[in-house]
Amino acid sequence: MVDAVPVIQITLAEDSNKRKKPRGQVVLFGSWCKGCGLCVEFCPTGVLALDENDHPIVIKPENCTGCHWCDTHCPDMAIVVKRLD
Ligand code: SF4
Ligand code: SF4
Repeated sequence: MVDAVPVIQITLAEDSNKRKKPRGQVVLFGSWCKGCGLCVEFCPTGVLALDENDHPIVIKPENCTGCHWCDTHCPDMAIVVKRLD
């Protein structure tokens, strides 16, 4: 006879800290941007995309976590993120 295998049921607690609003607001200075694409490539939440002229545009503003990856790595200081409360 085979012993019954205990079943462990894990209930994940609902994430009460779930973010509902963006934490950063992206401001782009198009005339300073050389279109290297770094900010688009490395934004961890897909906030940015390149337009037909290879310049970044904001496509998902609600996803911005305000991490400042983009504005601290932009070689032309063409992108600034303002932290939102
Ligand atoms: S601050 Fe972070 S999340 Fe917001 S656009 Fe820049 S890289 Fe993306
Ligand atoms: S990192 Fe700066 S220069 Fe490069 S595409 Fe983004 S805004 Fe333009």
